[in-house]
Amino acid sequence: MNDCIFCKIINKELPSYTIYEDDILKVFMNINPSTNGHLLLIPKKHLVTILDIDKDFLAHALDVIQTKIYPLLKEKLHCEGLTLSQNNFYGQEVKHFHLHLTPRYKDDMVDYQYNEEVLKNVEDVYKVLVDD
Ligand code: AMP
Ligand code: ZN
Repeated sequence: MNDCIFCKIINKELPSYTIYEDDILKVFMNINPSTNGHLLLIPKKHLVTILDIDKDFLAHALDVIQTKIYPLLKEKLHCEGLTLSQNNFYGQEVKHFHLHLTPRYKDDMVDYQYNEEVLKNVEDVYKVLVDD
């Protein structure tokens, strides 16, 4: 049995406010939005992280965002920008790949918090990343 809530949304076992769908993906309203018009874009196949996703899907998803969703959000909600974000396993509440499409507005106060105390020197981290 697949207990995944996003698979259930795709199979219409759970309701969603769908904005766009085709054979490959679905875009629907986030039930707990950070800003007005906060959407989620998900593949119709149950895949978990970006490591599972094929490049054709990503290209298609970006095309849908670029040609349909962002223009719609701009036209109808008059957002000033759009933030794309996506959690892979850590911080990923629903283990079905999803891209957050968060319209941005003046004074929306969306913030990305981090712990400066655990930050290392940038150059030290760079050396770890590029060292063979
Ligand atoms: P993440 O923390 O990146 O896994 O985000 C999961 C997102 O899914 C959260 O922002 C939730 O508000 C959203 N969410 C959870 N259940 C539903 C649902 N049934 N319909 C729409 N959005 C949902
Ligand atoms: Zn799923």
